[in-house]
Amino acid sequence: MEDLKYQIDLLTALNERLLGSEKMYRHIAECSGTLFMYFDYKSQPAKVELVGPWDEKVGEKIANHPYDESYMLNLLLDEDQDKFRIHMLELEREGLETDSIEVRSRSKRYWLSCFANVTYDDEHNPVEKIISIKDITKIKMNSEELEYLAFYDSLTGVYNRNYFVRKFRDMCERAESEEVSVEIMFVDIDDFKKINDSIGLLFGDELVQEFGQYLKGFDSEDVNVGRFGSDVFVIAVYNPCGTRSCDVIYRKILERLRHPFVLTNKSELMFTVSCGVAEYPDAGRTALEVIKNAEIVLYKAKEHGKNGIQYFEIDILNKFIKNVSIEKQLKEAIETEGFQLYYQPQYFAADGKLRGAEALLRWPDPEGEGFITSPSEFIPIAEKNGAIVPIGNFVLKEALRTYADWRSKYHIPIILSINISALQLEKDSFVETLSHTAGLYGVNPESIEIEITESVFINNFEDVIDKIKTLRGLGMRVSLDDFGTGYSSLSYLKQLPIDTIKIDRTFIETALKDDSSSIIYESVIKMSQKLGFETVAEGVETKEQFNYLRERNIDIVQGFLLGKPVSKVEFEKILIRQIP
Ligand code: C2E
Ligand code: MG
Ligand code: MG
Repeated sequence: MEDLKYQIDLLTALNERLLGSEKMYRHIAECSGTLFMYFDYKSQPAKVELVGPWDEKVGEKIANHPYDESYMLNLLLDEDQDKFRIHMLELEREGLETDSIEVRSRSKRYWLSCFANVTYDDEHNPVEKIISIKDITKIKMNSEELEYLAFYDSLTGVYNRNYFVRKFRDMCERAESEEVSVEIMFVDIDDFKKINDSIGLLFGDELVQEFGQYLKGFDSEDVNVGRFGSDVFVIAVYNPCGTRSCDVIYRKILERLRHPFVLTNKSELMFTVSCGVAEYPDAGRTALEVIKNAEIVLYKAKEHGKNGIQYFEIDILNKFIKNVSIEKQLKEAIETEGFQLYYQPQYFAADGKLRGAEALLRWPDPEGEGFITSPSEFIPIAEKNGAIVPIGNFVLKEALRTYADWRSKYHIPIILSINISALQLEKDSFVETLSHTAGLYGVNPESIEIEITESVFINNFEDVIDKIKTLRGLGMRVSLDDFGTGYSSLSYLKQLPIDTIKIDRTFIETALKDDSSSIIYESVIKMSQKLGFETVAEGVETKEQFNYLRERNIDIVQGFLLGKPVSKVEFEKILIRQIP
Protein backbone atom coordinates (compact mmCIF):
# COMPACT_ATOMS: atom_id res chain seq x y z
CA MET A 1 0.00 0.00 0.00
CA GLU A 2 2.81 2.35 1.00
CA ASP A 3 4.55 1.36 -2.21
CA LEU A 4 1.54 2.17 -4.35
CA LYS A 5 1.06 5.58 -2.72
CA TYR A 6 4.72 6.32 -3.24
CA GLN A 7 4.42 5.38 -6.91
CA ILE A 8 1.29 7.52 -7.38
CA ASP A 9 3.02 10.49 -5.75
CA LEU A 10 6.03 9.95 -7.94
CA LEU A 11 3.90 9.76 -11.09
CA THR A 12 1.96 12.86 -10.10
CA ALA A 13 5.17 14.73 -9.48
CA LEU A 14 6.62 13.56 -12.78
CA ASN A 15 3.41 14.46 -14.57
CA GLU A 16 3.44 17.91 -13.04
CA ARG A 17 7.03 18.37 -14.13
CA LEU A 18 6.17 17.18 -17.61
CA LEU A 19 3.22 19.52 -17.83
CA GLY A 20 5.42 22.33 -16.55
CA SER A 21 8.15 21.71 -19.11
CA GLU A 22 5.62 21.29 -21.94
CA LYS A 23 4.18 24.65 -20.95
CA MET A 24 7.64 26.08 -20.98
CA TYR A 25 8.47 24.68 -24.45
CA ARG A 26 5.17 25.87 -25.85
CA HIS A 27 5.83 29.29 -24.42
CA ILE A 28 9.30 29.37 -25.95
CA ALA A 29 7.85 28.26 -29.29
CA GLU A 30 5.23 31.02 -29.13
CA CYS A 31 7.82 33.66 -28.34
CA SER A 32 10.28 32.50 -30.99
CA GLY A 33 7.88 33.64 -33.69
CA THR A 34 8.63 30.38 -35.51
CA LEU A 35 5.85 28.00 -36.53
CA PHE A 36 6.38 24.31 -35.82
CA MET A 37 4.64 21.24 -37.18
CA TYR A 38 5.20 18.13 -35.16
CA PHE A 39 4.50 14.79 -36.89
CA ASP A 40 4.13 11.69 -34.74
CA TYR A 41 4.38 8.53 -36.85
CA LYS A 42 3.54 6.18 -33.98
CA SER A 43 -0.10 6.63 -34.89
CA GLN A 44 -1.41 5.92 -38.37
CA PRO A 45 -2.07 8.26 -40.10
CA ALA A 46 0.59 10.35 -38.45
CA LYS A 47 -0.68 12.73 -35.81
CA VAL A 48 0.14 16.34 -36.55
CA GLU A 49 0.40 19.00 -33.92
CA LEU A 50 0.93 22.69 -34.59
CA VAL A 51 3.09 24.53 -32.10
CA GLY A 52 4.00 28.23 -32.06
CA PRO A 53 2.10 31.42 -32.89
CA TRP A 54 -0.03 29.92 -35.72
CA ASP A 55 -2.99 31.85 -34.47
CA GLU A 56 -1.23 35.10 -34.92
CA LYS A 57 0.41 34.24 -38.25
CA VAL A 58 -2.25 32.36 -40.20
CA GLY A 59 -5.43 32.88 -38.22
CA GLU A 60 -7.42 30.80 -35.81
CA LYS A 61 -8.88 28.52 -38.47
CA ILE A 62 -5.77 26.47 -39.03
CA ALA A 63 -4.50 26.66 -35.49
CA ASN A 64 -7.58 25.25 -33.79
CA HIS A 65 -8.82 22.76 -36.32
CA PRO A 66 -7.71 19.29 -37.19
CA TYR A 67 -4.71 19.36 -39.46
CA ASP A 68 -5.71 19.66 -43.11
CA GLU A 69 -2.86 19.25 -45.61
CA SER A 70 -4.55 20.88 -48.59
CA TYR A 71 -5.63 23.85 -46.51
CA MET A 72 -2.07 24.23 -45.35
CA LEU A 73 -0.69 24.06 -48.88
CA ASN A 74 -3.25 26.57 -50.03
CA LEU A 75 -1.66 29.18 -47.82
CA LEU A 76 1.30 29.14 -50.22
CA LEU A 77 1.78 30.49 -53.69
CA ASP A 78 0.64 27.93 -56.31
CA GLU A 79 4.11 27.40 -57.74
CA ASP A 80 5.60 26.85 -54.27
CA GLN A 81 3.08 24.24 -53.08
CA ASP A 82 4.75 21.21 -54.70
CA LYS A 83 8.07 22.30 -53.33
CA PHE A 84 6.68 22.41 -49.79
CA ARG A 85 4.95 19.08 -50.20
CA ILE A 86 7.97 17.21 -51.58
CA HIS A 87 10.72 18.76 -49.46
CA MET A 88 8.80 19.14 -46.20
CA LEU A 89 5.59 17.14 -45.92
CA GLU A 90 6.87 14.05 -47.73
CA LEU A 91 10.51 14.27 -46.77
CA GLU A 92 10.50 10.86 -45.07
CA ARG A 93 9.50 9.19 -48.36
CA GLU A 94 12.97 9.94 -49.64
CA GLY A 95 14.43 8.57 -46.43
CA LEU A 96 16.17 11.89 -45.84
CA GLU A 97 16.82 13.36 -42.43
CA THR A 98 16.82 17.08 -43.15
CA ASP A 99 15.97 19.53 -45.88
CA SER A 100 15.30 23.24 -46.17
CA ILE A 101 13.48 25.47 -48.65
CA GLU A 102 12.19 29.03 -49.07
CA VAL A 103 8.60 29.61 -50.14
CA ARG A 104 6.25 32.55 -50.49
CA SER A 105 2.82 33.03 -49.03
CA ARG A 106 -0.13 33.14 -51.41
CA SER A 107 -0.44 36.90 -50.92
CA LYS A 108 3.27 37.25 -51.83
CA ARG A 109 3.53 39.32 -48.69
CA TYR A 110 5.68 36.82 -46.82
CA TRP A 111 8.82 34.93 -47.49
CA LEU A 112 9.06 31.75 -45.40
CA SER A 113 12.13 29.74 -44.64
CA CYS A 114 11.23 26.09 -43.87
CA PHE A 115 13.37 23.45 -42.28
CA ALA A 116 12.44 19.78 -41.72
CA ASN A 117 14.06 17.19 -39.53
CA VAL A 118 13.00 13.49 -39.38
CA THR A 119 14.13 10.91 -36.84
CA TYR A 120 14.07 7.23 -37.74
CA ASP A 121 14.09 4.04 -35.68
CA ASP A 122 16.57 1.18 -36.15
CA GLU A 123 14.58 -0.17 -39.12
CA HIS A 124 14.66 3.27 -40.67
CA ASN A 125 10.96 3.86 -40.12
CA PRO A 126 10.14 7.49 -39.39
CA VAL A 127 9.37 8.11 -35.74
CA GLU A 128 8.80 11.82 -35.67
CA LYS A 129 9.32 14.90 -37.83
CA ILE A 130 9.54 18.58 -37.01
CA ILE A 131 9.03 21.24 -39.64
CA SER A 132 9.92 24.76 -38.56
CA ILE A 133 8.70 27.72 -40.56
CA LYS A 134 10.24 31.14 -40.11
CA ASP A 135 9.14 34.49 -41.52
CA ILE A 136 12.18 35.93 -43.35
CA THR A 137 10.34 38.66 -45.26
CA LYS A 138 12.31 41.47 -43.69
CA ILE A 139 15.68 39.86 -44.36
CA LYS A 140 14.58 39.05 -47.90
CA MET A 141 13.39 42.61 -48.52
CA ASN A 142 16.64 44.03 -47.24
CA SER A 143 18.69 41.77 -49.41
CA GLU A 144 16.46 42.47 -52.42
CA GLU A 145 16.91 46.14 -51.75
CA LEU A 146 20.65 45.62 -51.45
CA GLU A 147 20.62 43.61 -54.62
CA TYR A 148 18.74 46.45 -56.33
CA LEU A 149 21.18 49.01 -55.01
CA ALA A 150 24.05 46.85 -56.20
CA PHE A 151 22.86 47.13 -59.78
CA TYR A 152 20.66 50.16 -60.13
CA ASP A 153 20.78 53.84 -59.41
CA SER A 154 18.13 54.44 -56.78
CA LEU A 155 17.15 57.90 -58.08
CA THR A 156 16.61 57.12 -61.75
CA GLY A 157 16.33 53.34 -62.04
CA VAL A 158 19.07 53.10 -64.67
CA TYR A 159 22.17 50.99 -64.01
CA ASN A 160 24.58 52.36 -61.46
CA ARG A 161 28.20 53.06 -62.31
CA ASN A 162 29.66 49.73 -61.20
CA TYR A 163 27.09 47.60 -62.88
CA PHE A 164 27.13 49.63 -66.06
CA VAL A 165 30.89 49.21 -66.28
CA ARG A 166 30.47 45.47 -65.80
CA LYS A 167 27.84 45.32 -68.51
CA PHE A 168 29.96 47.44 -70.84
CA ARG A 169 32.94 45.21 -70.21
CA ASP A 170 30.85 42.16 -71.06
CA MET A 171 29.64 43.87 -74.22
CA CYS A 172 33.23 44.61 -75.25
CA GLU A 173 34.26 41.01 -74.63
CA ARG A 174 31.36 39.76 -76.71
CA ALA A 175 32.15 42.33 -79.40
CA GLU A 176 35.69 41.04 -79.51
CA SER A 177 34.63 37.51 -80.35
CA GLU A 178 31.85 38.58 -82.69
CA GLU A 179 34.11 41.16 -84.34
CA VAL A 180 31.73 44.06 -83.94
CA SER A 181 32.04 47.36 -82.06
CA VAL A 182 30.43 48.93 -79.00
CA GLU A 183 29.70 52.63 -78.68
CA ILE A 184 29.54 54.54 -75.45
CA MET A 185 28.09 58.00 -75.08
CA PHE A 186 28.40 60.29 -72.07
CA VAL A 187 25.38 62.57 -71.69
CA ASP A 188 25.87 65.49 -69.34
CA ILE A 189 23.30 68.16 -68.49
CA ASP A 190 24.76 71.59 -69.30
CA ASP A 191 25.12 74.03 -66.42
CA PHE A 192 23.49 71.61 -64.02
CA LYS A 193 25.07 73.39 -61.09
CA LYS A 194 23.37 76.62 -62.07
CA ILE A 195 20.04 74.81 -62.54
CA ASN A 196 20.46 73.22 -59.11
CA ASP A 197 21.28 76.56 -57.55
CA SER A 198 18.22 78.16 -59.05
CA ILE A 199 15.61 75.45 -58.40
CA GLY A 200 17.11 73.84 -55.28
CA LEU A 201 18.58 70.41 -54.70
CA LEU A 202 15.28 68.55 -54.42
CA PHE A 203 13.90 69.75 -57.70
CA GLY A 204 17.35 69.30 -59.20
CA ASP A 205 17.11 65.66 -58.17
CA GLU A 206 13.65 65.46 -59.65
CA LEU A 207 14.92 66.80 -62.95
CA VAL A 208 17.73 64.23 -63.01
CA GLN A 209 15.17 61.57 -62.16
CA GLU A 210 12.84 62.61 -64.99
CA PHE A 211 15.67 62.80 -67.48
CA GLY A 212 17.12 59.48 -66.28
CA GLN A 213 13.77 57.80 -66.67
CA TYR A 214 13.47 59.22 -70.15
CA LEU A 215 16.90 57.83 -71.04
CA LYS A 216 15.93 54.48 -69.53
CA GLY A 217 13.47 54.22 -72.38
CA PHE A 218 16.43 53.51 -74.69
CA ASP A 219 17.38 50.47 -72.62
CA SER A 220 17.07 47.19 -74.55
CA GLU A 221 19.02 44.01 -75.11
CA ASP A 222 21.74 45.85 -77.02
CA VAL A 223 21.48 49.27 -75.42
CA ASN A 224 22.34 49.90 -71.76
CA VAL A 225 21.81 53.08 -69.82
CA GLY A 226 23.64 54.03 -66.63
CA ARG A 227 24.28 56.98 -64.36
CA PHE A 228 27.86 57.95 -63.55
CA GLY A 229 27.53 61.11 -61.52
CA SER A 230 25.00 63.67 -60.37
CA ASP A 231 23.93 64.70 -63.88
CA VAL A 232 26.12 62.42 -65.97
CA PHE A 233 24.53 59.53 -67.83
CA VAL A 234 26.10 56.91 -70.07
CA ILE A 235 24.60 54.92 -72.89
CA ALA A 236 26.25 51.86 -74.42
CA VAL A 237 25.21 50.54 -77.80
CA TYR A 238 26.27 47.06 -78.86
CA ASN A 239 27.08 46.62 -82.53
CA PRO A 240 25.76 50.03 -83.62
CA CYS A 241 24.13 49.95 -87.02
CA GLY A 242 21.15 51.46 -88.77
CA THR A 243 18.91 53.24 -86.32
CA ARG A 244 20.68 51.72 -83.33
CA SER A 245 23.52 54.15 -82.72
CA CYS A 246 24.59 56.90 -80.35
CA ASP A 247 24.08 59.40 -83.11
CA VAL A 248 20.43 58.45 -83.52
CA ILE A 249 19.91 58.39 -79.75
CA TYR A 250 21.53 61.80 -79.51
CA ARG A 251 19.14 63.20 -82.11
CA LYS A 252 16.18 61.70 -80.26
CA ILE A 253 17.39 63.29 -77.03
CA LEU A 254 17.66 66.66 -78.79
CA GLU A 255 14.10 66.22 -80.04
CA ARG A 256 12.92 65.51 -76.47
CA LEU A 257 14.79 68.51 -75.09
CA ARG A 258 12.84 70.83 -77.34
CA HIS A 259 9.98 70.41 -74.86
CA PRO A 260 10.28 71.30 -71.20
CA PHE A 261 10.41 68.83 -68.33
CA VAL A 262 7.56 69.45 -65.93
CA LEU A 263 8.31 69.03 -62.22
CA THR A 264 5.88 68.28 -59.40
CA ASN A 265 5.80 71.94 -58.43
CA LYS A 266 4.46 72.52 -61.95
CA SER A 267 7.54 74.42 -62.98
CA GLU A 268 8.69 73.80 -66.54
CA LEU A 269 12.38 73.42 -67.25
CA MET A 270 14.36 73.40 -70.45
CA PHE A 271 18.03 72.47 -70.61
CA THR A 272 20.66 71.31 -73.06
CA VAL A 273 23.14 68.45 -72.90
CA SER A 274 26.70 67.85 -74.03
CA CYS A 275 27.72 64.43 -75.27
CA GLY A 276 30.98 62.60 -75.81
CA VAL A 277 31.14 59.41 -77.85
CA ALA A 278 33.87 56.79 -78.13
CA GLU A 279 33.85 53.35 -79.68
CA TYR A 280 35.39 50.04 -78.67
CA PRO A 281 37.87 48.88 -79.98
CA ASP A 282 38.82 52.02 -81.97
CA ALA A 283 39.08 54.37 -79.00
CA GLY A 284 40.89 52.08 -76.57
CA ARG A 285 42.25 48.61 -75.96
CA THR A 286 40.08 47.97 -72.92
CA ALA A 287 36.52 48.83 -71.94
CA LEU A 288 37.79 51.12 -69.19
CA GLU A 289 40.04 52.98 -71.59
CA VAL A 290 37.12 53.58 -73.95
CA ILE A 291 34.98 54.85 -71.08
CA LYS A 292 37.74 57.22 -69.99
CA ASN A 293 38.20 58.49 -73.54
CA ALA A 294 34.48 59.09 -74.00
CA GLU A 295 34.59 61.20 -70.84
CA ILE A 296 37.57 63.15 -72.17
CA VAL A 297 35.77 64.02 -75.40
CA LEU A 298 32.71 64.98 -73.38
CA TYR A 299 34.80 67.71 -71.76
CA LYS A 300 35.86 68.79 -75.23
CA ALA A 301 32.18 69.13 -76.15
CA LYS A 302 31.74 71.30 -73.04
CA GLU A 303 34.70 73.43 -74.00
CA HIS A 304 33.21 73.92 -77.44
CA GLY A 305 30.37 75.83 -75.90
CA LYS A 306 28.11 72.98 -74.72
CA ASN A 307 24.86 71.79 -76.35
CA GLY A 308 26.78 69.56 -78.74
CA ILE A 309 28.25 66.17 -79.40
CA GLN A 310 31.92 65.31 -79.76
CA TYR A 311 33.22 62.06 -81.24
CA PHE A 312 36.51 60.55 -80.16
CA GLU A 313 39.57 61.79 -82.04
CA ILE A 314 43.14 60.79 -81.26
CA ASP A 315 44.27 64.45 -81.33
CA ILE A 316 41.89 65.31 -78.49
CA LEU A 317 43.32 62.46 -76.43
CA ASN A 318 46.91 63.48 -77.13
CA LYS A 319 46.18 67.08 -76.19
CA PHE A 320 44.51 65.89 -73.02
CA ILE A 321 47.47 63.72 -72.08
CA LYS A 322 49.81 66.62 -72.75
CA ASN A 323 47.70 68.94 -70.61
CA VAL A 324 47.65 66.46 -67.74
CA SER A 325 51.42 66.26 -67.89
CA ILE A 326 51.70 70.08 -68.02
CA GLU A 327 49.38 70.30 -65.06
CA LYS A 328 51.59 67.93 -63.08
CA GLN A 329 54.76 69.79 -64.01
CA LEU A 330 53.09 73.11 -63.21
CA LYS A 331 52.54 72.01 -59.64
CA GLU A 332 56.21 71.21 -59.27
CA ALA A 333 57.23 74.48 -60.93
CA ILE A 334 55.08 76.45 -58.50
CA GLU A 335 56.74 74.74 -55.55
CA THR A 336 60.21 75.41 -56.87
CA GLU A 337 59.34 78.85 -58.29
CA GLY A 338 60.58 77.52 -61.61
CA PHE A 339 59.32 80.46 -63.65
CA GLN A 340 60.98 83.46 -65.13
CA LEU A 341 59.83 86.78 -66.49
CA TYR A 342 60.69 88.21 -69.88
CA TYR A 343 60.09 91.82 -70.83
CA GLN A 344 58.96 93.18 -74.17
CA PRO A 345 59.48 96.88 -74.94
CA GLN A 346 56.68 99.23 -75.96
CA TYR A 347 57.49 102.44 -77.85
CA PHE A 348 55.68 105.68 -78.57
CA ALA A 349 55.01 105.59 -82.30
CA ALA A 350 55.49 109.35 -82.77
CA ASP A 351 59.01 109.77 -81.38
CA GLY A 352 60.23 106.20 -80.91
CA LYS A 353 60.81 106.71 -77.18
CA LEU A 354 60.51 103.78 -74.81
CA ARG A 355 57.11 103.84 -73.17
CA GLY A 356 57.49 100.77 -71.03
CA ALA A 357 57.74 96.99 -70.82
CA GLU A 358 55.24 94.19 -70.72
CA ALA A 359 56.19 91.42 -68.31
CA LEU A 360 55.62 88.03 -69.95
CA LEU A 361 55.89 84.74 -68.14
CA ARG A 362 58.35 82.09 -69.25
CA TRP A 363 58.70 78.53 -68.04
CA PRO A 364 62.30 77.42 -68.49
CA ASP A 365 62.97 73.71 -68.93
CA PRO A 366 65.03 72.76 -65.86
CA GLU A 367 66.61 69.87 -67.74
CA GLY A 368 67.46 71.55 -70.97
CA GLU A 369 67.69 74.79 -72.83
CA GLY A 370 64.65 76.72 -73.88
CA PHE A 371 61.16 76.60 -72.44
CA ILE A 372 58.81 73.78 -71.53
CA THR A 373 55.91 75.39 -73.33
CA SER A 374 54.56 78.85 -74.16
CA PRO A 375 52.26 80.82 -71.85
CA SER A 376 49.43 80.66 -74.39
CA GLU A 377 49.44 76.93 -73.70
CA PHE A 378 50.07 76.69 -69.97
CA ILE A 379 48.27 79.83 -68.75
CA PRO A 380 44.83 78.51 -69.82
CA ILE A 381 45.60 75.25 -67.95
CA ALA A 382 46.72 77.19 -64.89
CA GLU A 383 43.56 79.28 -65.14
CA LYS A 384 41.43 76.17 -65.20
CA ASN A 385 42.98 74.51 -62.16
CA GLY A 386 43.55 77.64 -60.12
CA ALA A 387 47.36 77.48 -60.33
CA ILE A 388 47.27 80.92 -61.92
CA VAL A 389 46.79 82.52 -58.50
CA PRO A 390 50.14 81.45 -57.00
CA ILE A 391 51.78 81.91 -60.41
CA GLY A 392 50.25 85.39 -60.68
CA ASN A 393 51.57 86.27 -57.24
CA PHE A 394 55.04 85.23 -58.33
CA VAL A 395 54.67 87.45 -61.44
CA LEU A 396 53.63 90.44 -59.34
CA LYS A 397 56.52 90.06 -56.94
CA GLU A 398 59.15 89.34 -59.55
CA ALA A 399 58.02 92.11 -61.94
CA LEU A 400 57.84 94.77 -59.23
CA ARG A 401 61.13 93.72 -57.69
CA THR A 402 62.79 93.92 -61.10
CA TYR A 403 61.21 97.27 -61.80
CA ALA A 404 62.46 98.67 -58.49
CA ASP A 405 65.93 97.41 -59.30
CA TRP A 406 65.88 99.11 -62.75
CA ARG A 407 64.59 102.34 -61.29
CA SER A 408 67.37 102.50 -58.74
CA LYS A 409 69.99 101.67 -61.35
CA TYR A 410 68.85 103.70 -64.38
CA HIS A 411 66.24 106.19 -63.14
CA ILE A 412 64.13 105.83 -66.29
CA PRO A 413 60.43 106.35 -65.56
CA ILE A 414 58.93 103.67 -67.80
CA ILE A 415 55.59 101.93 -67.34
CA LEU A 416 55.52 98.30 -66.34
CA SER A 417 52.59 96.29 -67.74
CA ILE A 418 51.58 93.13 -65.93
CA ASN A 419 49.05 90.62 -67.26
CA ILE A 420 46.36 89.73 -64.75
CA SER A 421 43.96 86.78 -65.08
CA ALA A 422 40.27 86.91 -64.30
CA LEU A 423 40.74 84.43 -61.46
CA GLN A 424 43.38 86.63 -59.81
CA LEU A 425 41.21 89.70 -60.10
CA GLU A 426 38.23 87.86 -58.62
CA LYS A 427 40.14 87.21 -55.38
CA ASP A 428 38.98 89.55 -52.63
CA SER A 429 42.58 90.13 -51.66
CA PHE A 430 43.76 91.16 -55.14
CA VAL A 431 43.85 94.95 -54.66
CA GLU A 432 45.50 94.54 -51.28
CA THR A 433 48.11 92.06 -52.63
CA LEU A 434 49.02 94.32 -55.53
CA SER A 435 49.30 97.53 -53.55
CA HIS A 436 51.12 95.75 -50.74
CA THR A 437 53.70 94.29 -53.18
CA ALA A 438 54.16 97.68 -54.87
CA GLY A 439 54.71 99.24 -51.43
CA LEU A 440 57.13 96.49 -50.43
CA TYR A 441 59.45 97.32 -53.33
CA GLY A 442 58.73 101.05 -53.26
CA VAL A 443 57.24 101.12 -56.75
CA ASN A 444 55.21 104.20 -57.58
CA PRO A 445 51.62 103.11 -58.50
CA GLU A 446 51.70 105.44 -61.51
CA SER A 447 54.38 103.26 -63.08
CA ILE A 448 52.18 100.18 -62.90
CA GLU A 449 49.71 99.12 -65.58
CA ILE A 450 47.64 96.01 -65.28
CA GLU A 451 46.54 94.23 -68.45
CA ILE A 452 43.17 92.56 -68.31
CA THR A 453 41.02 90.95 -71.00
CA GLU A 454 37.30 91.26 -71.52
CA SER A 455 36.77 87.85 -69.89
CA VAL A 456 37.25 89.46 -66.46
CA PHE A 457 33.90 91.20 -66.85
CA ILE A 458 31.87 88.10 -67.62
CA ASN A 459 31.23 86.79 -64.10
CA ASN A 460 31.37 89.75 -61.76
CA PHE A 461 30.99 92.92 -63.73
CA GLU A 462 30.22 95.21 -60.79
CA ASP A 463 32.86 93.73 -58.52
CA VAL A 464 35.58 93.97 -61.15
CA ILE A 465 34.62 97.55 -62.01
CA ASP A 466 34.88 98.44 -58.30
CA LYS A 467 38.33 96.90 -58.04
CA ILE A 468 39.55 98.62 -61.18
CA LYS A 469 38.27 101.94 -59.87
CA THR A 470 40.13 101.39 -56.62
CA LEU A 471 43.36 100.60 -58.43
CA ARG A 472 42.99 103.65 -60.65
CA GLY A 473 42.26 105.68 -57.55
CA LEU A 474 45.66 104.59 -56.26
CA GLY A 475 47.18 105.89 -59.49
CA MET A 476 47.63 102.67 -61.42
CA ARG A 477 46.71 102.30 -65.07
CA VAL A 478 44.42 99.68 -66.54
CA SER A 479 44.79 98.34 -70.04
CA LEU A 480 42.34 96.21 -72.02
CA ASP A 481 44.40 93.49 -73.70
CA ASP A 482 43.69 91.53 -76.90
CA PHE A 483 40.97 93.95 -77.91
CA GLY A 484 38.97 92.68 -80.87
CA THR A 485 39.22 88.96 -80.08
CA GLY A 486 36.31 88.76 -77.66
CA TYR A 487 32.81 90.11 -77.84
CA SER A 488 34.20 93.63 -78.00
CA SER A 489 31.56 96.15 -78.69
CA LEU A 490 32.76 99.66 -78.98
CA SER A 491 29.66 101.03 -77.31
CA TYR A 492 30.33 99.16 -74.08
CA LEU A 493 33.93 100.28 -74.06
CA LYS A 494 33.01 103.75 -72.96
CA GLN A 495 31.52 102.40 -69.76
CA LEU A 496 34.81 100.82 -68.72
CA PRO A 497 37.09 102.69 -66.35
CA ILE A 498 40.27 101.95 -68.33
CA ASP A 499 43.21 103.95 -69.68
CA THR A 500 44.62 101.90 -72.52
CA ILE A 501 43.41 99.65 -75.30
CA LYS A 502 45.71 97.05 -76.84
CA ILE A 503 44.47 96.10 -80.27
CA ASP A 504 45.09 92.41 -80.84
CA ARG A 505 47.78 91.44 -83.28
CA THR A 506 45.38 89.55 -85.55
CA PHE A 507 44.20 93.00 -86.78
CA ILE A 508 47.57 94.11 -88.03
CA GLU A 509 48.16 90.71 -89.60
CA THR A 510 45.28 91.27 -91.99
CA ALA A 511 45.11 95.07 -92.19
CA LEU A 512 47.68 95.28 -94.93
CA LYS A 513 46.34 92.30 -96.81
CA ASP A 514 42.81 93.39 -97.57
CA ASP A 515 40.96 96.67 -97.66
CA SER A 516 38.03 95.80 -95.47
CA SER A 517 40.31 94.68 -92.61
CA SER A 518 42.20 97.91 -93.01
CA ILE A 519 38.99 99.92 -92.74
CA ILE A 520 38.06 98.06 -89.55
CA TYR A 521 41.49 98.63 -88.03
CA GLU A 522 41.38 102.30 -88.86
CA SER A 523 37.97 102.75 -87.33
CA VAL A 524 38.99 100.87 -84.18
CA ILE A 525 41.98 103.18 -83.72
CA LYS A 526 39.83 106.25 -84.33
CA MET A 527 37.09 105.15 -81.99
CA SER A 528 39.52 104.25 -79.23
CA GLN A 529 41.22 107.60 -79.51
CA LYS A 530 37.92 109.46 -79.59
CA LEU A 531 36.92 107.73 -76.38
CA GLY A 532 40.12 109.07 -74.89
CA PHE A 533 42.04 105.84 -74.53
CA GLU A 534 45.71 105.45 -75.17
CA THR A 535 45.97 102.96 -78.04
CA VAL A 536 48.59 100.24 -78.39
CA ALA A 537 49.11 98.14 -81.51
CA GLU A 538 50.28 94.63 -80.64
CA GLY A 539 52.25 92.29 -82.87
CA VAL A 540 54.03 94.75 -85.12
CA GLU A 541 56.41 92.64 -87.14
CA THR A 542 57.30 94.64 -90.25
CA LYS A 543 58.41 98.12 -91.16
CA GLU A 544 55.41 98.34 -93.45
CA GLN A 545 53.02 97.65 -90.58
CA PHE A 546 54.84 100.16 -88.43
CA ASN A 547 54.53 102.91 -91.06
CA TYR A 548 50.90 102.08 -91.64
CA LEU A 549 50.20 102.48 -87.93
CA ARG A 550 52.20 105.66 -87.54
CA GLU A 551 50.30 107.20 -90.44
CA ARG A 552 47.11 106.47 -88.59
CA ASN A 553 48.42 108.11 -85.44
CA ILE A 554 48.59 105.04 -83.24
CA ASP A 555 49.99 106.01 -79.85
CA ILE A 556 52.13 103.03 -78.95
CA VAL A 557 53.61 100.05 -80.79
CA GLN A 558 54.77 96.69 -79.51
CA GLY A 559 56.05 93.79 -81.55
CA PHE A 560 58.95 91.71 -82.77
CA LEU A 561 60.05 94.49 -85.15
CA LEU A 562 60.86 96.76 -82.22
CA GLY A 563 61.92 94.16 -79.76
CA LYS A 564 61.08 90.59 -78.78
CA PRO A 565 60.47 89.70 -75.15
CA VAL A 566 63.87 89.35 -73.45
CA SER A 567 65.27 88.45 -70.07
CA LYS A 568 65.71 91.00 -67.28
CA VAL A 569 69.42 91.31 -68.02
CA GLU A 570 68.86 91.75 -71.77
CA PHE A 571 66.20 94.37 -71.15
CA GLU A 572 68.71 96.43 -69.18
CA LYS A 573 70.58 97.00 -72.46
CA ILE A 574 67.44 98.64 -73.85
CA LEU A 575 67.19 100.78 -70.74
CA ILE A 576 70.82 101.84 -71.03
CA ARG A 577 70.18 102.95 -74.61
CA GLN A 578 67.50 105.29 -73.29
CA ILE A 579 69.87 107.16 -71.02
CA PRO A 580 70.43 110.56 -72.66
P1 C2E B 1 49.52 88.98 -74.43
O1 C2E B 1 49.37 89.56 -73.10
O2 C2E B 1 48.67 89.49 -75.51
O3 C2E B 1 51.03 89.10 -74.79
C1 C2E B 1 51.50 89.35 -76.06
C2 C2E B 1 51.94 88.09 -76.69
O4 C2E B 1 52.26 88.34 -78.04
C3 C2E B 1 53.22 87.53 -76.07
O5 C2E B 1 53.15 86.13 -76.19
C4 C2E B 1 54.29 88.06 -76.98
O6 C2E B 1 55.45 87.29 -76.97
C5 C2E B 1 53.58 87.96 -78.31
N1 C2E B 1 54.10 88.91 -79.27
C6 C2E B 1 54.58 90.14 -79.06
N2 C2E B 1 54.94 90.72 -80.20
C7 C2E B 1 54.68 89.84 -81.18
C8 C2E B 1 54.84 89.84 -82.60
O7 C2E B 1 55.29 90.79 -83.20
N3 C2E B 1 54.45 88.74 -83.28
C9 C2E B 1 53.95 87.65 -82.65
N4 C2E B 1 53.61 86.61 -83.39
N5 C2E B 1 53.79 87.60 -81.32
C10 C2E B 1 54.15 88.69 -80.59
P2 C2E B 1 53.50 85.20 -75.00
O8 C2E B 1 54.60 85.78 -74.19
O9 C2E B 1 53.64 83.84 -75.55
O10 C2E B 1 52.21 85.28 -74.11
C11 C2E B 1 51.02 84.83 -74.57
C12 C2E B 1 49.90 85.20 -73.66
O11 C2E B 1 50.02 84.57 -72.41
C13 C2E B 1 49.88 86.68 -73.33
O12 C2E B 1 49.27 87.40 -74.37
C14 C2E B 1 49.07 86.69 -72.07
O13 C2E B 1 47.71 86.62 -72.38
C15 C2E B 1 49.50 85.42 -71.42
N6 C2E B 1 50.51 85.71 -70.41
C16 C2E B 1 51.85 85.87 -70.56
N7 C2E B 1 52.40 86.15 -69.37
C17 C2E B 1 51.42 86.22 -68.46
C18 C2E B 1 51.35 86.48 -67.05
O14 C2E B 1 52.35 86.79 -66.39
N8 C2E B 1 50.14 86.42 -66.46
C19 C2E B 1 49.02 86.13 -67.16
N9 C2E B 1 47.86 86.07 -66.51
N10 C2E B 1 49.02 85.88 -68.49
C20 C2E B 1 50.21 85.93 -69.12
MG1 MG C 1 49.28 91.35 -72.42
MG1 MG D 1 47.61 90.80 -76.09
